[in-house]
Amino acid sequence: MEDMKEKVEQELGEMRLTFKSRKTKSVKWRKTQLSAIIKMIKEKEDEICKALFQDLGKHYTEAYRDELGIVQRSATTALNGLDQWVLPKKTKLPLLFFPAKGEVISEPLGTVLIFASWNFPISVSLDPLIGAISAGNTVMLKPSELSPNSSSFLAKTLPSYLDPKAIKVIEGGPDVATLLLQHKWDKIFFTGSQRVGRIVMSAAAQHLTPVTLELGGKCPTILDDRSISKDIKTAVKRISGAKWGSCSGQVCISVDYLLVEERFTSSLIDMLKQTIKSFYGENPKDSECVSKIVNKKHFLRLSGYLDDPRVKASIVHGGSTDEEKLYIEPTILLDPPLDSDIMTEEIFGPILPIITLRDIQGSVEFVNSRPKPLAIYAFTKDDKLKTRILSETSSGSVTFNDVFIQYVCDALPFGGVGESGIGRYHGKYSFECFSHEKAVMEGSLVPEFEARYPPWNAFKLSF
Ligand code: NAD
Repeated sequence: MEDMKEKVEQELGEMRLTFKSRKTKSVKWRKTQLSAIIKMIKEKEDEICKALFQDLGKHYTEAYRDELGIVQRSATTALNGLDQWVLPKKTKLPLLFFPAKGEVISEPLGTVLIFASWNFPISVSLDPLIGAISAGNTVMLKPSELSPNSSSFLAKTLPSYLDPKAIKVIEGGPDVATLLLQHKWDKIFFTGSQRVGRIVMSAAAQHLTPVTLELGGKCPTILDDRSISKDIKTAVKRISGAKWGSCSGQVCISVDYLLVEERFTSSLIDMLKQTIKSFYGENPKDSECVSKIVNKKHFLRLSGYLDDPRVKASIVHGGSTDEEKLYIEPTILLDPPLDSDIMTEEIFGPILPIITLRDIQGSVEFVNSRPKPLAIYAFTKDDKLKTRILSETSSGSVTFNDVFIQYVCDALPFGGVGESGIGRYHGKYSFECFSHEKAVMEGSLVPEFEARYPPWNAFKLSF
């Protein structure tokens, strides 16, 4: 650890000097780095997909869709937008200030720290990195130790594509993270759990360092079958895709649980079963399209949920597990107890609880009885329900009649609220996330108003 301590100090010192040299402020430098990320993704596609397969058993196509494709698009959006984003924003001032002028200019924050999670180890590392570079910062990236192949790919490869004096990768787990958190950074961008988010935020508070926390939680999905009866198959397919079709549900914006009217349950379960079969065949364990659970600890966490006898009794499909293969079968539960761990913790795995309600309008109260989620999904064409969801609940995002598209759409901010996170990024919001918006005002030396100065008289100056 002594060596690591020294390494951190040395790397940090070099990044600070690089920032001070002003080279990262040049738009040309930023664009060169962004283009290099695109080049790296193209040239190292096979290597990245191999690492993702080794870490998570991600299928090549899924890896491309969820990681390489996302990064390429983000870098391209930043490259195309940067010239506009860096422009000072002229501000119209109230007449009172005439003839002064005002504008807002974006400046980089300085030397920033990014922590990534293991479930999308390439995209949640590179996506914020793109924002930090676009804004002109120097960056230390710490990928997750739980996806070691992706982490070592980034540590080995990024320095040969990006400016190594400005962008650094440091590998390690909580011990290294703890060392990093002892230092003063100009911003910490963290993707991970609420538990570690709290640790990061309290360490940042010692230095008054601003944080963005991209956390998780339980994302509810409201399925109002009556109003979308013609499109119900599409809805079920999309819900299944979100639960099982991406990293086996180890996704922060996955469908955590489903809210549905009681009378629809048996048709719904049949449709879900059919969909699982159409995705993975008779035996999902043999399918190449099922990602593995990341490690034994998470496998035991998930299988532990199912071992609870009250939860076990609620299994209506699946439930088999294989510790050696880190496999959990796509599983459906019907009305597990609301006080069981599976209904109080973020599931982050391929288990789908269905919670039944008498009337789907009750879904609003159900969602409100729990912490604010990162995402709410609602499949409905009922305008009254839509309005109630938008106006009576709070969440990082609301997506009607689809899943995940809110993450992929760079025109919208992505982030949580309450316990699901602080701050936002993606597209131009990533640039803003790593920038300080500096207010600049230029006054005029004439005319001069003596009323600004003492001695005071009865005249009152009011703004
Ligand atoms: P985690 O909190 O365990 O780890 C995240 C990062 O924190 C890793 O780099 C890890 O090394 C580091 N870390 C671990 N212990 C630490 C400590 N004691 N001090 C400082 N740093 C420490 O999270 P995870 O298991 O990697 O990821 C899963 C969580 O991330 C889920 O809750 C999921 O919802 C969330 N997530 C959120 C998003 C999002 O964009 N909002 C995306 C992906 C994952």
